[in-house]
Amino acid sequence: MKFGGTSVGSAARISATADIIEAASRPTVVVLSAMSGVTNALLAIASGEDDRDAVLDKHLAAARELGVEADTADTLRTILGNAVTPAETVACGELMSTRLMHAVLQKRGIDAVWLDATDFVSVDATGEPDIDAICRNAASVFSAAGEHDVYVTQGFICRDEKGCVATLSRGGSDYTATLLGEALGATEVQIWTDVDGVYTADPRRVNTARCIPGMSYATADTAARRGAKILHPDCIRPAMRGGFAVRVLDSFHPEASGTEISPTAAQAQGFVAVASTVTPAGTVEVSLIGNREGVGTAEVAALLGYEAMQGDGFIYATVDAGFADEAMRMLHNAFIE
Ligand code: ADP
Ligand code: ASP
Ligand code: MG
Repeated sequence: MKFGGTSVGSAARISATADIIEAASRPTVVVLSAMSGVTNALLAIASGEDDRDAVLDKHLAAARELGVEADTADTLRTILGNAVTPAETVACGELMSTRLMHAVLQKRGIDAVWLDATDFVSVDATGEPDIDAICRNAASVFSAAGEHDVYVTQGFICRDEKGCVATLSRGGSDYTATLLGEALGATEVQIWTDVDGVYTADPRRVNTARCIPGMSYATADTAARRGAKILHPDCIRPAMRGGFAVRVLDSFHPEASGTEISPTAAQAQGFVAVASTVTPAGTVEVSLIGNREGVGTAEVAALLGYEAMQGDGFIYATVDAGFADEAMRMLHNAFIE
């Protein structure tokens, strides 16, 4: 179960997320992001801004509200106080959010252990996850921890090939969750977030977007790679290798059925979603994900007034940033069933 920043963004959200964990089947591995806004604040601190006190106070206030200040205050202070390098500083967000959650679960009488993800998630010299090492090290750390109902650990943070603390790319907690799913032989990985599944477009940008109940690995992988920010671009690959389902769920509405990504999910057909990514040049690649007989680059180009290209499982056009949202709406209205 992976919970993103908004799902642990305040004392109230941490409590609601603890309710979801408490109701889940056991044993379960819980992967948490930093409280929302904290990674950005830590990146600013790592580049010289001194606002450590504000970050510490945010966590201490949450601890107080959750009734776990006595168990966590010293640990939270030590985490921030020990961070020296920029990466160690950025890693504090996940270390602190998981300490809070662990204390809350223990206070509820749940058999939960806290594990340090930098002991088993590592990247190679190119910055890509070292899959063999993760499988080996996760198996040994989890078995050394013994049998417990809940294992709480951090998304996003890892070690590099020299053994120094490092991080995956932004939004990397999704990737940590599926990498661990692969390493530990999970039957399902749940990505709990602030929207009730993968939509046909970012619902903040296209108000007619709707939730997609089921997707194949290939379609979800394409959507993630083409910029559907709800999933880290690389997070579907471990699920493909491991053969487990990825379920996207809403921590604000835990009863909603969400999106199932698996070979057996009822799969969306035709054009499934639109997504966008910003290029290094500052333009935006707007993608129409899926395939439909009779619709190709010519139809997309005619609609948008920009040249369109065919990718593997998607059609895209590179547009000016100011036109991107409008282009997404146009593609969505014209081609998504
Ligand atoms: P978390 O902190 O839980 O990882 P993110 O902000 O990374 O959450 O991802 C969730 C957000 O992704 C949603 O609030 C939504 O605005 C955005 N989003 C972008 N594309 C999509 C999509 N196709 N379906 C759903 N949400 C999307
Ligand atoms: N906290 C990290 C980020 O903001 C990782 C994540 O949220 O997935 O990028
Ligand atoms: Mg995310």
